[in-house]
Amino acid sequence: MTKTLAKVIPNLRSEDWDTYDESLDVFSDDPAVVEAFRQNGIFLEYCEAEQPGSPRWEDCRNEKGHDGDHRYRNKTWPNDKK
Ligand SMILES: [Zn+2]
Repeated sequence: MTKTLAKVIPNLRSEDWDTYDESLDVFSDDPAVVEAFRQNGIFLEYCEAEQPGSPRWEDCRNEKGHDGDHRYRNKTWPNDKK
């Protein structure tokens, strides 16, 4: 199931599916769905570290607690987490 969803989600996103974040909330108790979304970079909880010099909506969109640099779309900045 996860494999199938992981293939379907990118197609949905390329359509006019602006609400995929909300969609994930609906399925948050279904590990297969959560994993499928995760494989597509959609997480239940985002890191939300502030990007220096950028507006609030460009906070880090990696998964909460991730390793490595913070990221928003194609921009990355250092993760100071010790
Ligand atoms: Zn981050």
